[in-house]
Order: sequence, then structure tokens, then C-alpha cells
Amino acid sequence: MEYDPDTNAFSGTYHVGLPQVMWHITDVCALTCPYCFSTKSGLGTEVDKLEPIVDRLKQLGVLKVDFGGGEPVSYSQFGEAVDLCEQRRMHLTVTTSGVISPKSRGWLLTNHNRFARVIVSMDGTSLIHDRLRGRIGAFREALALLVDLIGDGAKVRVNTVITSAVTREVMGGLQRELDSVGLSEWCLIQPHPSNAKPTFEDFAIEDAKFRDLVASVRGTRREEMKVIERPRSAYVGYWTLHPGGQMRPQTTGPEDGVGFHILEASYEQAMLEIGKVPVKVPTENGVK
Ligand code: SF4
Repeated sequence: MEYDPDTNAFSGTYHVGLPQVMWHITDVCALTCPYCFSTKSGLGTEVDKLEPIVDRLKQLGVLKVDFGGGEPVSYSQFGEAVDLCEQRRMHLTVTTSGVISPKSRGWLLTNHNRFARVIVSMDGTSLIHDRLRGRIGAFREALALLVDLIGDGAKVRVNTVITSAVTREVMGGLQRELDSVGLSEWCLIQPHPSNAKPTFEDFAIEDAKFRDLVASVRGTRREEMKVIERPRSAYVGYWTLHPGGQMRPQTTGPEDGVGFHILEASYEQAMLEIGKVPVKVPTENGVK
């Protein structure tokens, strides 16, 4: 199996181990999205564990690390984690809310070319996004970062979690904003109940509504805009590395699989657990 950073997709079928991992390098985040699928434990990865973790990921076959969280760019040693992965020739993406300190923002703008994608999360037009994220100004900060990244030639994607708060009109409004700044890749995501908060069901949407809103976006998209869709089922089988070191595969429900501890399990035990879950990776044609 191979990973192409230009398309941010995998090809081929045979792979020994795990091709990609979502690394929640920190669970810390200033926002309060009610459909958040982070464990929000308040933990960050212990700094002295970074190198052994990255060595183990490489040993387990990882070709690409998706940094998420929490807010990964705000993690104190994020640059060091990126260095370690790069030194082991792993490809990288990062997802950010854009609500980050000036220092973190400066780092990201200087280092964006080290990522196959910098993914900015935007879940509606300004009022909806700020309400969902629990912070006035969150949309403005995300959009400003997006503009600066695009202006600097970064490979950028916007992720939008389509919740019950979103209508066709809201999607149309967001689409106009994204078109106006020249975005060329937009990923639409159905909320997944992984680590669901008590408020999750208020924001979940049925498959039919998700398909309808995706279709409305596709129907009015600019030719240059690539629209990607990720229904709830797409993430089943993705492995997440949590800040405490636990590796857990997503399931269809709120409780992730048990998995293993990245540093405490032997190589053989880890490979055995990985082998129990069908490999799931993004491809040019969706997810397989
Ligand atoms: S920005 Fe991300 S990590 Fe933070 S609360 Fe929202 S969904 Fe969770």
C-alpha cells in the first residue's frame, strides 16, 4: 500500500501493519463542541514518550499520521512531534480549529508545507459555527487562518461536521464563504458517536439528511472545488492514538474498541490487535 500526499489518498491493497493513525496528541481544546469525538481527558502526550511512540508507530507500519485532538497545534511540543515523524519518513496531516495562540499560528504558517494537508474545521456560517463551538469569534479566527494558509500556497482542506443545526441555507452560506477565499477541497462529515457527550444526539443527523445536504453542496459547487464525503460508517476501523498511549479502533457506537497500549504492548501483541480490525484508509474513490 502507498500513500500519495498530493491526493491525500492511499492506493494498493497489501500492507503489513497499520497504514495510518489518528494521533490525538493532546485532548486539550479551548472549545466545547457538543458533538466532539475527542475523549477531552485534559491530557497531553507525555513529552518524554514522544520519541518511543513515533518509533513504535514506524515499527507498526504507519505511513501517515493525522494529528488531531484536542487542538494539536497548541500542544507544547508539537514541532518536536512533527520533527520525529518526518525523520522517520512518515507523511503528516493536521486538523486545527484555528483558535490558537499567535505563537502557534505563526509556527503553523511557517511550517504548513510539512503537511500533506492542513485541515481547518468549520461547521457552519459565522453565527452557527460560533454557537456550536461555544466561542464568539471562532469562525473569524478559522477563516482568517484559512485565508493566510491559502495565500501562502498551503495544501488546505476544510472539514465540516454537518449537524442538526445546519440547513441547506447554512451550507449554501458557508459554501459562498469558502468559494470567495478560493478553497479547493472540502470534506463533509456526518457526526460519529465515538466518545459521545450527553449532548451528542441533539446534534446527530440521519443518513438521509446527510446525503441531502451533501447533494445540495455538490449541486452548486465550483468546478475547482473537490467535495469529499465521510458518512458515519467511513471511520469505523480507523485507529486513534490517545494522549495516554492507548490505541483504540473506532466502532459504529460510542465506545471505541479496546485496542492496546502503544508502548506497553509487545510488537507481536500490537500486530495481533491491529490484525483483528479490517484496514480502513481513504482512497481516491472514498474509503476502503
Ligand atoms: S474543536 Fe475539535 S477537539 Fe475541540 S471541542 Fe470541537 S470537536 Fe472537540
